[in-house]
Parts: sequence; structure tokens; C-alpha cells
Amino acid sequence: MSGLEGLRAIVTGGASGIGLATARLLAERGAAVAVLDLDPSGVPAPLLALKADVCDDASVRAAVDDAADRLGGLDIVVNNAGIGAQGTVEDNPDDEWRRVLDVNVLGMVRTARAALPHLRRSAHAAIVNTCSIAATAGLPQRALYSASKGAVLSLTLAMAADHVREGVRVNCVNPGTADTPWVGRLLDAADDPEAERAALNARQPMGRLVTADEVAEAVVYLASPAAASVTGTALAVDGGMQGLRLRPA
Ligand code: NAD
Repeated sequence: MSGLEGLRAIVTGGASGIGLATARLLAERGAAVAVLDLDPSGVPAPLLALKADVCDDASVRAAVDDAADRLGGLDIVVNNAGIGAQGTVEDNPDDEWRRVLDVNVLGMVRTARAALPHLRRSAHAAIVNTCSIAATAGLPQRALYSASKGAVLSLTLAMAADHVREGVRVNCVNPGTADTPWVGRLLDAADDPEAERAALNARQPMGRLVTADEVAEAVVYLASPAAASVTGTALAVDGGMQGLRLRPA
């Protein structure tokens, strides 16, 4: 027994990085898992791959209902699809704000709205949102991204309150910089990707990035019946980035 036998899960943005690591770990622990992604073509078995755009309400509803139908119900929703943005408030035009908030915030709202009728029928219902330390850290050059994750944190707490008496727990994880294809793409765009990676590692309290598998462990804990009394929390998986007050080297 690995703890999630008989449970049914969906993971948005589950074709890459943190979402894929989470979907794999949920399946490894015994859950039946559907991945909802813009491009689910590379999603390995036994994960059920479903194409969905979290910006399109009809697409989300169809994919969530399809997943619930094929898995025989829904117990776990991992709201993970997200995109990045760099810059100050002077750098990103309104349509960029709308695009990022549409994916990172409304995407979670649409998925939760579609999933809640299924989750209310579960005896172990849990939603885990992928937030970020950007929600509370005051990072430079991340105004739009930070605002989107601040909204995810508030949304998590409000949803936890709204649904606690319905038996639906809602929590989030706050990863620090995690070694995923997303971060790989940012490093590849630098003049000297190797030097940039070394500098990024050096800025981390542990001298290395967080791994997607480490974030997945936290998500799976919050999603599991082992966390039955845990709701309305944010669990940081950031190598100490937020909590430690290290003197500059
Ligand atoms: P990633 O780019 O490797 O994976 C993101 C996945 O989301 C991709 O498969 C992509 O196709 C999918 N996706 C994007 N837009 C979508 C949409 N509209 N509909 C459906 N699917 C969509 O990214 P990652 O690094 O694994 O990030 C996953 C989550 O973790 C995001 O919410 C991100 O904000 C958060 N996060 C990442 C880091 C990090 O350092 N990597 C740190 C903190 C938080």
C-alpha cells in the first residue's frame, strides 16, 4: 500500500516540470491520474493525457468531466498550469497582464469550478494549488508574476474557508526556483547559460535549485488523506529561501 489507492486525480499543466513530477508521483503512490495540458502529447502511461486550455472555460469543463467519467470520479485536483513574466509595472502592457492573470489565476478558478461538483462526492477531496515564494517575497523584476501568485495565495485561503464544511481541503505549495524546463528555457536564453546557472545556484541558500520531485512530494502530501486536518496552508519548498535570513557571503 502506498497511500493513494482508489483515489482519482487531475493535474493541470501536468505535461512538464512540477506538474509531470506530481502526476507521476500520484500514480506511483496508487492514484489514477489524468493530466490536463495544452500539449499532452508526451505524457507517459499510465497517466491519462487530456488536451485542455485552462484559459478556455468550455475546454476545462469538458476535460474535467471527461477525466471524472473515465476515472470514476475525482478526489484530487492539482491546479498547477502557470506561465511566467518578467519586468516592472512599467514593462508589461495591459494585455500581458490579462494573459498571465488569465492562465495563473483564472485558470485555477475555472478548473476548481468545474471540479467542485465532483469533489463534493468524494470522501477525501483535496485541491492543491501551485503558488510560489513570489507571492510574498517582494522579488525584483517580477511585478506581474508576483501579483498573479499573490492572488493564488489569497484564492487558496478563501477557497479553504468556503469549502471546509463540504469536506474539500484547499492548500498550496510555494516552490522556490525549481529546476524545470521553464527555468531551463530562461537559462538557455542567457548569453552564457552555464555561468547563469552557476550564479543562480550560488544565490540559493542550499547552493542548488529545488527539484521538481521535491515539490511533487509536498503536493502529494497535501493531497493525501495523511493531511486530512490540513487546509488553508502554504507549504514552502524553497531550500530555505523565504525563512532563512542568511548574511550575504
Ligand atoms: P513548465 O513550463 O515546465 O510546465 C508548465 C506546464 O503548464 C506545461 O506543460 C504547459 O504546457 C502547461 N500550460 C501552460 N499554459 C497552459 C494552459 N493555458 N492550459 C493548460 N496547460 C498549460 O513549468 P514549471 O516550472 O513546471 O511550473 C509549473 C508551476 O509551478 C507554475 O504554476 C509555476 O508558476 C509554478 N512555479 C514554478 C517555479 C519554478 O522555478 N519552476 C517556481 C515557483 C512556482
